[in-house]
Amino acid sequence: MPVQETVILLDIEGTITSISFVKDTLFPYVTNNLVNYINKLWGKEKLEIDLELLREQAAIDSNSELEGFVPIVSGDNAKQSIIDNIRWQMSIDRKTTALKQLQGHIWKEGYENGVLKGHLYEDVLPVLNKLIKLGKRIYTYSSGSTNAQEYLFQYSMYGDVSNVFIKYFDTKMGPKNSVTSYTNIANDIGVNCGDILFLTDILTEAEAAIKAGCNSALLERPGNAPLDPEKSSTFKIMKTLNELLEN
Ligand SMILES: [Mg+2]
Repeated sequence: MPVQETVILLDIEGTITSISFVKDTLFPYVTNNLVNYINKLWGKEKLEIDLELLREQAAIDSNSELEGFVPIVSGDNAKQSIIDNIRWQMSIDRKTTALKQLQGHIWKEGYENGVLKGHLYEDVLPVLNKLIKLGKRIYTYSSGSTNAQEYLFQYSMYGDVSNVFIKYFDTKMGPKNSVTSYTNIANDIGVNCGDILFLTDILTEAEAAIKAGCNSALLERPGNAPLDPEKSSTFKIMKTLNELLEN
């Protein structure tokens, strides 16, 4: 008997995609193309939407005590202050909507021009397609924006595989280590938490899902941070998704 649950909810980074793709390919792509992108679209509506969010975020951040905060100014130094603000946010790995939206737009360009191809471990698609044939429904839940998730699958190394997934969830459902995020997702899908199997590489996320009443298992992919054997001892730890099809 393969997996019992009807809904398979997948984390992306470290679970079906290598952490290295995100860390060594996606993020440097933004860093390396940021100045060009902003110069090219400066004054254009498409960029202005992103800049407005960044300015709003900077206004909020100016009242906080974030270390190294870079204000966004107007006038001659406006463009440079925006670039510096984005670099600062990236340097401390902030997860603001403003930063994510801009990153998503820069990645979109990279995917469309063929420079970026979304990484998926080789077991992922064969297993997911078998699970779909067994009547399972596949969703993702990632801290990457739903747009960024969509591009990764639309422009994956195996071509457009977005039809495998029913819907992408991001932190609009709540943070990944928060219990209510998983109840929110179950409500959105219209199932009980017990019908969901959540797969992730991060123990605290798996624990939150369990507390919400979902089931969860951990993935140990090459390049992932090692799992604490003691703390993760109550979880099934899988090397690949093939184990979902086994007894
Ligand atoms: Mg992960």
